[in-house]
Amino acid sequence: MNIETLAVHAGREVEGDTSAVTPSLTLSTTFERAEDGSFPSGHIYSRLSNPTRARWESALAQLEHGSRAFAFSSGQAAVAAMLQTLSAGDHVILPHDLYHGVRHLVKEILSRWGLSATFVDMREVDYVARAIQPNTRLVWLETPSNPALNIANIAQIAELAHAHGAFCGVDNTWASPIWQQPLVLGADVVMHSTTKYLGGHSDVLGGALIVREGKDDLVTRLLQIQQLSGAVQSPFDCWLLLRSLPTLPLRVRAQTANAELLAKFLHQHPRVEVVHYPGLPTHRGHDLAAEQMRGFGAMLSFQVKGSGTDAMNVAAKVKVFTRATSLGGMESLIEHRRSVEGADSPTPDALLRVSVGLEHADDLIADLAQALE
Ligand SMILES: *Cc1c(COP(=O)(O)O)cnc(C)c1O
Repeated sequence: MNIETLAVHAGREVEGDTSAVTPSLTLSTTFERAEDGSFPSGHIYSRLSNPTRARWESALAQLEHGSRAFAFSSGQAAVAAMLQTLSAGDHVILPHDLYHGVRHLVKEILSRWGLSATFVDMREVDYVARAIQPNTRLVWLETPSNPALNIANIAQIAELAHAHGAFCGVDNTWASPIWQQPLVLGADVVMHSTTKYLGGHSDVLGGALIVREGKDDLVTRLLQIQQLSGAVQSPFDCWLLLRSLPTLPLRVRAQTANAELLAKFLHQHPRVEVVHYPGLPTHRGHDLAAEQMRGFGAMLSFQVKGSGTDAMNVAAKVKVFTRATSLGGMESLIEHRRSVEGADSPTPDALLRVSVGLEHADDLIADLAQALE
């Protein structure tokens, strides 16, 4: 089935007992046992599993062509669960320009539990190959990356990881399953901050991991971590995500069409130094993105000519865009990225990150035009 059809039907099977067409929200934390002590519904206690969460997890697995999905209370909780599958003494390779929360999680928390990490530029597979160590157990990708929109070759890096006995995980938040399907390209696990495009309305915090077919040991391990660490997604948030899913393909397509127009406008603007958008033929990762993605996405960043203060001044003048972090919602956001990333940020000071929303492209272009005046 095509992804538009899956988005409408996955996780929304009509309920046998009520005939309700729309999924019910089951808030109960506990489920009755039969006289013989068994659990007829399969559910015992909502940290372990919950009917509404089970629907959302089933939908996610179908969307990403995985065998099993796990829903967490945030994207960070999902990444933390994946890293907890590793042991003290293991080594992980990550992109040097990845989401700053993951960089800090690894450096500040997991390093104290004996995990070692190397951060590399993943635009060339060779750079990743050179970072492999005998104890490398996970190669983590984020493509397009945050906020520079660098593109990494998922198929080749997954092959490299497998040749050295490591898993390959991909943070697919920015592309969304509409434009990129890492499991089909050879990755073992996909991660989403469902706070972003999957939620799509800037009102749910969530995360997910989806595991490739045939990786039963990884599924067992993640199930154990999800159930015992307990950073599970609440039934209501799962219900909101199920409600957002049918419109995901429409939203992402419309947002991407706007982003393409905005990128072209910024690219020819005299006050703009460079635009980072994989849909532009001048972008270093354009050909690779065209090969492994079905669309270029609705995130872009650009560097204003001048200093960080000049960039801040542009952001200060917007009227349609909102100055805020996060992405993937209906409303367009603009953000001076370096100032939220912390002292070790590799992001240029004059860079502004843009999440393109569902407004009319002409209004978005006019707003940035007046802000750049
Ligand atoms: C937002 C984000 C995260 C973290 O997700 P939370 O839901 O905020 O915990 C991780 N990776 C990427 C690429 C993100 O954009």
